[in-house]
Amino acid sequence: MAGHPGSSESLSARAKLAVTAGKAAAAVSRAAGRGSGSVIGGKVALRLDPELLGRLANHLDVVLVSATNGKTTTTRLIAEALRASGPVVSNALGANMPAGITSALAGGSDAKFGVIEVDEKYLAGVARDVDPKAIALLNLSRDQLDRAAETRMLAEKWREGLAGTKAVIIANADDPLVVWAASSSPNVVWVAAGQAWKDDAWSCPACGGVMQRPGDDWYCGECGFRRPTPSWALSGDHVLDPHGSAWPIHLQLPGRANKANATSSAAVAAVFGVPPQVALERMYQVQAVAGRYDVVQFQGRDLRLLLAKNPAGWLETFSLIDGPPAPVILSVNARGADGTDTSWLWDVDYTRLAGHPIFVLGDRKLDLAVRLEVANLDFRVCETLDEAVQLAPPGRIETIANYTAFQDLRRRVGN
Ligand SMILES: [Zn+2]
Repeated sequence: MAGHPGSSESLSARAKLAVTAGKAAAAVSRAAGRGSGSVIGGKVALRLDPELLGRLANHLDVVLVSATNGKTTTTRLIAEALRASGPVVSNALGANMPAGITSALAGGSDAKFGVIEVDEKYLAGVARDVDPKAIALLNLSRDQLDRAAETRMLAEKWREGLAGTKAVIIANADDPLVVWAASSSPNVVWVAAGQAWKDDAWSCPACGGVMQRPGDDWYCGECGFRRPTPSWALSGDHVLDPHGSAWPIHLQLPGRANKANATSSAAVAAVFGVPPQVALERMYQVQAVAGRYDVVQFQGRDLRLLLAKNPAGWLETFSLIDGPPAPVILSVNARGADGTDTSWLWDVDYTRLAGHPIFVLGDRKLDLAVRLEVANLDFRVCETLDEAVQLAPPGRIETIANYTAFQDLRRRVGN
């Protein structure tokens, strides 16, 4: 969106210069064919005015959204819900570190609300800078096997960074690490959003004791740390609000995980005065998010594009796939953004794909092949997407890829 930076009259000369320089840098980067240039623009602007992010957020009612899974989708759902009440600026392209956020806000002069996805590692810092009205914490799970300790440290960092915050925290009561992180804050709205992936939370984040998990409940038998009573809940296809009213969820996005995202989004919208029925109706507008869940035509076939960045994401993705015989293409890379270690493959239960014709692609197709072999699955290793699509039997093809593999697929299908 074109326009001037937020309430430009109130921005200092230095901030204005920073925004202008940032835009110039972004334009140069675009001209050089390096994408939208939004991140480089934000970096230049922040270099010139380190407090620019806070200044740009000054006139906005801000909500921050962080999680390891689903933050981009949830950011879209919240943005759509809040539009019921006024214009929204959001980092919809998913540039979720300070430079990308700065750049997104610089384009939102007329907005009333800022709906901002934040990378988990930057949450505490961004929360300090932009003084948010609300912060949504959805889940924390590890990206890789060797990062379990890192996830625990992130929870600790959130806990320290959010202690005493004025923001309303909307937090998932079913994720013990999120509960641990949020419970240093004075004002928390607990949401029973569920947790399909439980393997990261068998030890108590407070004392290291063994976590008991009877049914949907959880508690530590040693220190008494336990699941808080939620005021919002996902129940089947409905959101239960704090008054006990049930509101139907209608989404174009598939799967239980997105219903959970809609539930958290409705709880966030309520903080900004948007009632759940209005919020949920508006969320129906959201279709694909940055290409995810998109069904595209390629070589005369329908391909559904699904992103799965970590074991929790793979588990959610498998639950979206209809029973056999839908053909499934799996693609795994291990470049920078993916993490270079593929040992997480051993955490994913691929036997869920038994009976599906499976085709394997990507830089790490051989790592994946070994994993599938051990799981006793039939599969074919392919060199290219084209080859896999040609070999696939009839029916819509489900294509599941991790981060950079997903980007490769989108480029190939021209999406
Ligand atoms: Zn404990």
